Amino acid sequence: MRIIDKVYIDGAFVTPHGTKSFELFNPATEEPIGSVRLGDAEDVRLAVAAAKRAFPAMARTSQAERIAMLHRLRDAVKARAGDLVAAMTEEYGAPAYFTGFSVQNTASTFEVMAAAVKDYAFERTAGFSAVTMLPLGVVGAITPWNSNFGFIASKLAHAIGSGSTIVIKPAEQSAIQTQILLECLHEAGLPKGVLNIVNGTGPEVGSALTAHPDVALITFTGSTPAAKIIQRSALETMKRLVLELGGKSPTIILDDADLDAAIPVALMSGFANSGQACVAGSRILVPRSRRDEIVARLKRETEQLKVGLPSDPDVRIGPLANASHWERVQRWIRIGREEGATLLTGGEGRPDGLERGWFAKPTIFTDVTNTMRVAREEIFGPVLSVIPYEDEADAIAIANDSDFGLQAYVLSSDEGRALRVARQLVAGRVVINGAPHDPRAPFGGFRQSGLGREIGSYGLDAFLEPRAVLLPGR
Ligand code: NAD
Repeated sequence: MRIIDKVYIDGAFVTPHGTKSFELFNPATEEPIGSVRLGDAEDVRLAVAAAKRAFPAMARTSQAERIAMLHRLRDAVKARAGDLVAAMTEEYGAPAYFTGFSVQNTASTFEVMAAAVKDYAFERTAGFSAVTMLPLGVVGAITPWNSNFGFIASKLAHAIGSGSTIVIKPAEQSAIQTQILLECLHEAGLPKGVLNIVNGTGPEVGSALTAHPDVALITFTGSTPAAKIIQRSALETMKRLVLELGGKSPTIILDDADLDAAIPVALMSGFANSGQACVAGSRILVPRSRRDEIVARLKRETEQLKVGLPSDPDVRIGPLANASHWERVQRWIRIGREEGATLLTGGEGRPDGLERGWFAKPTIFTDVTNTMRVAREEIFGPVLSVIPYEDEADAIAIANDSDFGLQAYVLSSDEGRALRVARQLVAGRVVINGAPHDPRAPFGGFRQSGLGREIGSYGLDAFLEPRAVLLPGR
C-alpha cells in the first residue's frame, strides 16, 4: 500500500493543509493499492505564493540556463523509467506498449522543448520597434488521469522554456505516478518555487487554481465539459488559456486502401490505450462500395485482439481506469443499441474469462449515422462506430461534421491522394497511413477540442506575450 501524504511546495515535500484522502485502486484487480491525502485551497494559496516569489528570477534566466534545466529534467526522468512504467501499469492498467511509449515520450518532452528554446527568437524587431517575448507569470496546470505524468512533464517543460513558474494540480486518481515523477523532478534541482504540485480534486484544488488572481495562465488537459467551467472561472481575471480537450476523431479508409495495412491501423488508432485516448479514431468512415468486406475484417481482427492484464506484453486492451468509468462505457454501449446501431462485436459486460477488473469488451457498432450520439460524443473507451460514405467528398464532409477537431486518420494506397484529403480536414493533426508519433509537431485541437497549441515554438507562443518598445529616430 502506498500512502502519499505530501504535496510539493517551494522545493520541498510538505504535509498539506487539506485533510481529506482519496483511495487508489488497481483497475486490473479492483484491489486497493494506496491512498493520497488531498490538498485544499490553502495549499493552492501557498503554492501560488511560492511560484510568484520565484517568478522574477525565473523570468530573467537565459536560454542556456533554461536548456540546462530541461536537460536535467530529461535525465532525471530517464533514470527512473522502470519505476514510472511499473506505477502506470499498477495504478492505471495501461498495456505495456502504451506505458513504454508514455515514459519515453515524457523524457523526450524536455528534449524537444530544449531544442525549441535554442531556436526561439525571444528578441525580435517589428518595424522600428524592439519586441521581447515575455513570460506571463505564474502558470496553473491541470492534468487528466489517462496520461497524467506525460502532461505534468509537458506543462512543466513549457513553463521552464518560457521562463515561467508553475503550480500543477495532477489527476487525483494518478497519485502514485505523480509521486514517482515528482521524485525525479525534485532530483533535477530546479530553483525553489519554480515547480509546485498540489494533489486534490477538480472542484476544490482545481477551481482554487483557476480562480486565483495571481495565476496568469491556465494550461489544462482534460474533458471539454470541465474546460467550460474553467474558462468561466478564468474569465474574471482574464487569464490566458491553453486547453487540450476531447475528440471524436475520424479514420477515413479510402476506397483504394490496402486492407492488410489499413485495418490494423484503424483498430490501433481506435483502441489506443484501451480507447481512453483523446486522439482515438472512434469514427471509422468506410466507402459504401467496400463496406461488407471492411466490416468483416474489422470484426475478425477485433476478436483477435487480446484483452487482459497489462503486464502481459501481448495484451492490446487493458482495463478501464476505474469503476465509474466502466459503468459509463457500459451506458454508452446501451445508448448505441437504443439509437438503432447494429452491434458488430463486443457489447455490454466483461470479456469471457475476466471476472475481476474493469475490463470492457472491444465493441464496434455498424449502421451508425453521423447524427447519432455514439458518433458525436466522446465515449473514451473501446467503443467504435463504423459510418459508410458515398465518395471522397462525402467522407470529408462527414469527417468535418463534428463538434471536435483534434486528430484525424487517412488510409490509402496513394499517399498523394491521402495528402489531398488530409488538407481538407479540420483537425489539429492528421495522420496518414499510420505515420509514427512526431514529438515535434504542434498538438491541439480545433473547435471544442481546445484552444491554443502545445509543443515546440507553437507551445512557447502560447506561454509568451510580446512587449514592443518603440524607439525614437529609427
Ligand atoms: P476531466 O476533465 O474530468 O479531468 C481532468 C482534470 O481536471 C482532472 O485533474 C480533474 O480533477 C480536473 N477538474 C475537473 N473539474 C474541474 C474544475 N471544475 N475545475 C478545475 N479542474 C477540474 O478529464 P479526465 O476524465 O481526467 O480525462 C479524460 C478527458 O481528457 C477526455 O475528455 C480526453 O479526451 C481528455 N484529454 C485530452 C487530451 C488532449 O491533449 N487533447 C489528452 C488527454 C486527455
